[in-house]
Amino acid sequence: MKSFQAETENLREQLIAWRRDFHRHPEIAFEETRTAGIVAQRLNELGLEVQTGVGKTGVVGILEGAADGPTVLVRADMDALPIQEVNDVPYRSEKPNTMHACGHDAHTAIALGVATLLAQHREQLAGRVKFVFQPAEEIGEGAKAMIDDGVLTYPTPDVAVGLHVWNTLPVGQVAVTDGPAMAGVDSFRMQITGSGGHAAEPQQTRDPVIAAAHIMTAAQTIVSRNVRALDAAVVSFTRMMGGDAFNVIPDSVELWGTLRNFSAEIRDILIERLGQIAQGVAQGFECTVDLEIARTLPPLINDSNIGERLRQGFASIRPDLTVVDDLRTMGAEDMGLFLRAVPGVYFFVGSANSQRGFDFPHHHPRFDIDEEALTIGTSLLTSAVADYVWSR
Ligand SMILES: [Zn+2]
Ligand SMILES: [Zn+2]
Repeated sequence: MKSFQAETENLREQLIAWRRDFHRHPEIAFEETRTAGIVAQRLNELGLEVQTGVGKTGVVGILEGAADGPTVLVRADMDALPIQEVNDVPYRSEKPNTMHACGHDAHTAIALGVATLLAQHREQLAGRVKFVFQPAEEIGEGAKAMIDDGVLTYPTPDVAVGLHVWNTLPVGQVAVTDGPAMAGVDSFRMQITGSGGHAAEPQQTRDPVIAAAHIMTAAQTIVSRNVRALDAAVVSFTRMMGGDAFNVIPDSVELWGTLRNFSAEIRDILIERLGQIAQGVAQGFECTVDLEIARTLPPLINDSNIGERLRQGFASIRPDLTVVDDLRTMGAEDMGLFLRAVPGVYFFVGSANSQRGFDFPHHHPRFDIDEEALTIGTSLLTSAVADYVWSR
């Protein structure tokens, strides 16, 4: 594997400047027009073939090598979150209630860095690199929107790579996980309908509030009783809505929640049992249930051969880093949609530094990263791509 550490070092100030600029000007899902504009302009300057408006606000840049060869997809997400930043830093978000609290500002900067480095070596590339700057990861819709717009065709990628800066991993550590690395997710909505009335005369009602409480409690047994203890699964209720007054039993209650899994088999169990429990319990309380699976993402599954190749390569060119192979999270990522279609790897680059206060979790109003992760991420991602398109 070819090292780009020294060349990345020359980009350090630029990477930090890009990341801080995106951090100051965050944009939430499908509103990434400023970010996309800067990305498209930079890719144009580098001489890439640029397409904008892919999946609404996504940008695609194709770097053609001098000779023919495979197509490598590099994916970076660009969107921020509706969170009010409370960090007191010079690059603090200038937009109220909008913040890069997941590190996608870093991902965009890193992918621009990779494009910059590889564009300088166009003559040595056999194949092409397809840079995919994706919108709307946080609502799980951006990857789908870009795929629907044909991002996986003309040319069809042979390999897909990407990374996430990770704040539970100390800076200097990198995780390339074999197989399932991030969870599949189904969001659900459940309407429990009974018959409301005066709270003083509950016998005249069919109370959906009590039914909802029992459904939520009984559903906790799905993970503990229906899923094998060695398999990973989560059932979480996240929102309950119903009623308007102290003394009125409402007609209906709505519950929201999320189901997480690492396999289709577990996913089927979670959905089937949630439905059975909801129907059965509701019936016991003389209520009815309407269950709707609102949004689905597959688990993110890394290709083990590509993972092994990257782990060995990273360890050989960066002996100063610690490369681990077992980081898994029940968090979800729509990069899983790309990796379901194209073999590849999504790896984690440690960005935590507790001595400097960079250890708040993702999506926290004080989230921030050790910017050393920018140069580490850029050099490793560049090496990973070059490993497939460098002419030998
Ligand atoms: Zn996030
Ligand atoms: Zn993220």
